[in-house]
Amino acid sequence: MSLMRFPIERRQTQPVRIGRVVIGGQAPIVVQSMTNTDTADIDDTVRQITELARAGSELVRITVNHESAARAVPEIRAALDAQGCDVPLVGDFHFNGHRLLTDYPACAEALAKYRINPGNVGRGEKKDSQFATMIEIACRYDRPVRIGVNWGSLDPDLVVRMMDENARSAQPREADQVMREAMVESAISSAARAEQLGLPRDHIILSCKMSGVQDLIAVYRMLAERADYALHLGLTEAGMGSKGIVASTAALSVLLQEGIGDTIRISLTPAPGESRTREVIVAQEILQTMGLRSFAPMVTACPGCGRTKSTTFQHLAQDIQTYLRERMPEWRTRYPGVETMQVAVMGCVVNGPGESKQANIGISLPGTDERPAAPVYVDGEKIATLKGAGIAEQFKRMVDDYIETHYRAP
Ligand code: SF4
Repeated sequence: MSLMRFPIERRQTQPVRIGRVVIGGQAPIVVQSMTNTDTADIDDTVRQITELARAGSELVRITVNHESAARAVPEIRAALDAQGCDVPLVGDFHFNGHRLLTDYPACAEALAKYRINPGNVGRGEKKDSQFATMIEIACRYDRPVRIGVNWGSLDPDLVVRMMDENARSAQPREADQVMREAMVESAISSAARAEQLGLPRDHIILSCKMSGVQDLIAVYRMLAERADYALHLGLTEAGMGSKGIVASTAALSVLLQEGIGDTIRISLTPAPGESRTREVIVAQEILQTMGLRSFAPMVTACPGCGRTKSTTFQHLAQDIQTYLRERMPEWRTRYPGVETMQVAVMGCVVNGPGESKQANIGISLPGTDERPAAPVYVDGEKIATLKGAGIAEQFKRMVDDYIETHYRAP
């Protein structure tokens, strides 16, 4: 796959610096994630942040929901630093963020960015002053802010006002259209207020997360038309398993293809016991399969059919994919460019040799009734034929050799 074959023209946005990470401008689209541990549980949260960062999450968001969480934040930062994990932390605030950031300055300082939900800042008169407090603290510590509007917590005062105005207009629009516009209005007006309070434009990221694919696409198109703030994309409450992955991919790929989006998060509900890192891998795979970024070597594998009755090639494809991903944290530094490598694992002679020749390294396993031999192709040339029970291990060693000879840093 070539990253240059179908270049996507990215929309120009304000670049926002978050520690060592840049979101927006023409910077590579950033992958981020969020923990689901109790932030007050320092060990558990550090463990999960480390896992997410190791999987490739370039920012990690943690909830800061009460005093014990705010107290834990600087200790979490210190523990990560002690382990050499420098991933920037984003604090997620709702309802009491103004108070926690005021009362716990070490928390405000340890966080690299604050997420503020304008629908959950406060009600009535308190709303403006509590929002202002959070923005003033962001200015004091020179921290960027994501103004993160969410469909499930859209500012009710704003919705009532916009619905009333719509009802009085000569040509009232559908209620869902008014709701979409209320999402965008909440984000844009909050960003304008933050700028009035002194937060520079290049310290503001916007998001308007919705759970419906078409709603999300419509809202982000409006946002992109109306302002040049950097945009955080994500389908909220995407769900579990394949439904969550498909819905997120459907929504985000349309927007990314239009050049909209500077950072993404995939909001998957993990199955019980499933690693939180799944959301990072899915985000990376969306960007990589679209040719926007490369994170880890991609395995091309056929689906299998009646020509291959054994599961050998399924096991090998899975084995190789897991192996490549597990080795990436080490390879990333030792073998620059290895993330662009293509590996093919194919089930039979029909498409096996052809697909394997297109990859950097590929293996075509024998289908049913074929001679029990697996030709291996490197850069389009057949270089070996593997046989016997140890094919998987032999092929992995050949992948290692390819990486060593083609990607070793000078
Ligand atoms: S490569 Fe062979 S086994 Fe795989 S899907 Fe095609 S015909 Fe079936």
